[in-house]
Amino acid sequence: MAVPKRKTSPSKRNMRRSHHALQAKSFQECPNCGELKLPHNMCSACGHYNGREIVPIEA
Ligand SMILES: [Zn+2]
Repeated sequence: MAVPKRKTSPSKRNMRRSHHALQAKSFQECPNCGELKLPHNMCSACGHYNGREIVPIEA
């Protein structure tokens, strides 16, 4: 099995991890109720997706 010859230096390790920062999630407004929702996901507040009610919300 191939094995690395040298330990990765802290500098190289940190350069590799420079892309690992977390990004803020993107949100869209629900066209039905105006609540913020994840794109391509059903609205968790009113249960609508693509102009239709998918999951009935019991009050
Ligand atoms: Zn909604």
